[in-house]
Amino acid sequence: MDYEPAVFCSRCGRKAPRWISWSVPNPGRRYYACVESKHGFLQWHDEPTSPFLRVLLGDLRDRVWSLEDSVAALCGDGDPAAGEVQERTAGVGVVGDSVRLMMCGIVIFVSGLVVGMIIS
Ligand SMILES: [Zn+2]
Repeated sequence: MDYEPAVFCSRCGRKAPRWISWSVPNPGRRYYACVESKHGFLQWHDEPTSPFLRVLLGDLRDRVWSLEDSVAALCGDGDPAAGEVQERTAGVGVVGDSVRLMMCGIVIFVSGLVVGMIIS
């Protein structure tokens, strides 16, 4: 990996961290922005992507977000659907917890597999 010099906010002079955009027009495009958003400093690291990659990355982003929601629901991240999973496993005790963990692992594994297949 090549050395890349730091980028500094033109308003406050602080080092601007690099982020990844997941907006509709720039999915996967890296940029620098000041931690103080009110400074309005933004500098792109990558060139704009092709329309094909923009649509592909947008679709993958939506798929990942959908799968993350499914995992959150299964793992009980405060989602209303999580209560349903907990109800189903209630009374099963340790076995229920391990089944739930295994389901989360399977969902995460399948998510990675789907994303890997689409990217390759
Ligand atoms: Zn700043």
